Amino acid sequence: MSQWHPQTEQLVEFAAGTCHTGISVAISVHLHYCPECRKRLSELESASAVLFEHQKPIAVSDNLFASVLSEIQQGKVTESVKPAAPARATSRYPKALSSLIPGTLEELEWRSPMKNLKVTHLMTDESGLIVGLHHMKAGGRVPNHQHRGDEISVVLEGGFSDELGTYGPGDFIFRTEEDVHSPQADAHEDCLMLSVVSAPVKLTGALGWLINPFLKA
Ligand SMILES: [Zn+2]
Repeated sequence: MSQWHPQTEQLVEFAAGTCHTGISVAISVHLHYCPECRKRLSELESASAVLFEHQKPIAVSDNLFASVLSEIQQGKVTESVKPAAPARATSRYPKALSSLIPGTLEELEWRSPMKNLKVTHLMTDESGLIVGLHHMKAGGRVPNHQHRGDEISVVLEGGFSDELGTYGPGDFIFRTEEDVHSPQADAHEDCLMLSVVSAPVKLTGALGWLINPFLKA
């Protein structure tokens, strides 16, 4: 069971289809592992549908959103949007990820920017977010570093720990550029992660979540 999850704002945007592709891939991969967030997402989708039916998508207060959500949780509002079926394991990895990998992992072009770490690039999305894979050697520590922008990691295999916690498959880890950390892979197994980082050239609003009408006071 995942211990680290996307923020509610991120799930709301995902439900509304307004988040950037890179973030959407990361959330989809997390959802594959996390029944808790799949449930939360279907509640958010239902709440969105109810709000749209009321034709008040703008200037809806937090209270209304919370009360609609609470009614759904209590079963007072029937679901009008079917939640996405849990992803089936059609390959070794979640579909949102395997669709970005044409062949095998070994066939991808890997480079090693620092000891114990190999990285590969999968795609750059419309907002400049870079989606890739990070592979840490079992027991390997990546030297203290600071990101040039925000970073989302989702563990795919193995696990690692850093100053802020320990992480295993499915965990969704969000780091801002202020965070300095020194991750170390678990001793017994290599760690493979999906990584989504903002482009080196900082774009205005990149990873600054769009203000969602449902949450606007
Ligand atoms: Zn979750």
